[in-house]
Amino acid sequence: MTVEQKCFIRAEDILSIEYECGSCGVKTTVPVRQNTRAVPKECPTCGVGWLGYDTAEIKTVSRFVGGLHELSDVLEGRGFKLSLEIKYPAEKK
Ligand SMILES: [Zn+2]
Repeated sequence: MTVEQKCFIRAEDILSIEYECGSCGVKTTVPVRQNTRAVPKECPTCGVGWLGYDTAEIKTVSRFVGGLHELSDVLEGRGFKLSLEIKYPAEKK
C-alpha cells in the first residue's frame, strides 16, 4: 500500500509575510493584516538591494502580498474555503 500525504494551508491561516535578507540573514516579518503592498526594496539592516524601483518584479511581489492582505476579507462568509497545497514537511531523523 502506498500512502501519500499532502499538506494544505488555508488563506486565513497565513498570518504574516517574512522577508529574509540573502546577504545578512536578517528577517523582517510583516503581519498580513497590515498594508503589505509596501514591499521593502532593500534590506532594512544592511541596505543590499532586493528589488528595483518600479520594475515588473516588484509589481508582481506587491500584487501577491497585497492579495494576501485582501484575501481574508474577500473570503469571509463565503460558501467555500481556499487552501494552498504546500510542500509536505520532511520528517526529521
Ligand atoms: Zn541584509
